[in-house]
Amino acid sequence: MSILVLNCGSSSVKFALLDLKAGTTHLSGLAERLGAAEASVTLRAAGQTSVQPISGGSYADAFAAIAAALDKQGLRGGVRAVGHRVVHGGERFHAPAFINGEVLAAIRACVPLAPLHNPANLAGIEAAQAAFPEAAHVAVFDTAFHQTMPEVAYRYAVPETWYRQHGVRRYGFHGTSHAYVAAEAAQLLGRPLSGLNLVTAHLGNGASIAAVQGGRSIDTSMGLTPLEGLIMGTRSGDVDPGLHEFMARQAGLSLTQVTAALNQDSGLKGLSGGLGSDMRELEAAAAEGHPGARLAVAAFVYRLAKQMAGMAVALGRVDALVFTGGIGENSAAVRAAALERLGVLGTRLDPQANEQAVRGQGGLISAPGSVPALVVNTNEELAIARTAAQVLNGEEA
Ligand code: ADP
Repeated sequence: MSILVLNCGSSSVKFALLDLKAGTTHLSGLAERLGAAEASVTLRAAGQTSVQPISGGSYADAFAAIAAALDKQGLRGGVRAVGHRVVHGGERFHAPAFINGEVLAAIRACVPLAPLHNPANLAGIEAAQAAFPEAAHVAVFDTAFHQTMPEVAYRYAVPETWYRQHGVRRYGFHGTSHAYVAAEAAQLLGRPLSGLNLVTAHLGNGASIAAVQGGRSIDTSMGLTPLEGLIMGTRSGDVDPGLHEFMARQAGLSLTQVTAALNQDSGLKGLSGGLGSDMRELEAAAAEGHPGARLAVAAFVYRLAKQMAGMAVALGRVDALVFTGGIGENSAAVRAAALERLGVLGTRLDPQANEQAVRGQGGLISAPGSVPALVVNTNEELAIARTAAQVLNGEEA
C-alpha cells in the first residue's frame, strides 16, 4: 500500500509517494511557482530527476502532472491514502482526521489563525480529492501534537474574552516533527517513550522546541502563530509586545508593516545586519570575523539554550536533549555552543561524536555518564505517511 504525502503552500506543493511496508520512496518532488506562467514540477524517481513546465500552473495542473508520472510507473492504483500536512487545527484537532465535509469546514474555521497557510492547505486538499478520488484523504495537523499542553502552558495572560471569543492561546507548531524525533530518540536510547522526559529542538528556517513527557507535548516555544519563541532565519521569535506601538509611533509603520518585518527581516537576517538567514553562510562569515554574523549565531544559540533549559521546569527531570532540522542535524558548532551552555541540565558534549553527526548520520553526541544529547534526522513525510496509514487502519495515531 502506498501513501501520497502532500504539503501544499500558497505557490508550491511538496510531495512524496511512500511504500511503508517496503520502506521506500517511489517518487518525490516539488511543484513550484504555482499561479505564475513559469510554474514547473520537479519529479524524482529511481534516482532520476526531471523538470517539466505545468501549463496553467494551478494545484489541479500540478496533481495532473504527478498523476501522469504515477501512471507511467503503474503506481497510481496503489495509492490508498493521501496524507495532507495542514498547518493549523486550532483546538478542534488533537489528532489526524479523515477528511470529510465537516473536517473541511473545521479547517476553514481555523483560517483566521493561519491566514496564509490554511487557505493553501484547503485549496490543495480540494484539488487532490478531485485528482485522487479513490484514495482516502487524511489531514495531519502541525498543531495537534501540542494539544496535550496544560492550560498553564497554553494560556496567555491576556483578557479572558480574547481566548474565549477569538482563540487567543498558544498552539505550537512543527508537531509532526517533534513527535517523530521523540519516538526515534527513544529507540536510539533503547528505552520506552512512555517513560522518557525529552526536550526536542527542531531547528530549520523556522525553529521551535518542545517538552515531551511520555510521548506527549507539555510545552513548546511557538504560540498563537509560528513567530513566538526562538530566533529563526528571518523571524524574530520573542519580542516585547509593546514593540508594535513603539515602532508605529517612532517610524510611522503600520501594524502590517511591523508584522512583516518581524516575519521576514528579523531573526538571523536582522541580527546579522541583513547579511542573510542561512546558518551555514552565517557560520562561514562569522569564522571570517563578520561582527553581525557572529552576533546572529551567538544570539541564536543563547536563546535556544535558555529556552531549552526552561523546558526543564515543565518536565521536572530531563532524560535527553534531541536536535533535528537543517541546523540541528548539520551544525556541529551550534550544537556544541548550545550544549556548553546546557551543562546546567547535566549534559556534557562528546566533541568527536558531535563532529561526526551530520545529515544522514544521527546519534549520541554527549559524553558517557552525562544526560544524553542526540541528533535525530527528522522525516516529516514518513511521519505523515505513517499517521495517514494508522488512521486508515482505524488505529489511534
Ligand atoms: P526548513 O525549515 O525550510 O525545512 P531546513 O530544516 O532544511 O529548513 O533548515 C535550513 C537551515 O539549515 C538553514 O539555516 C541552513 O543554513 C541550515 N543548514 C543546512 N546545512 C547546514 C550545515 N552544514 N551547517 C550549518 N547549517 C546548515
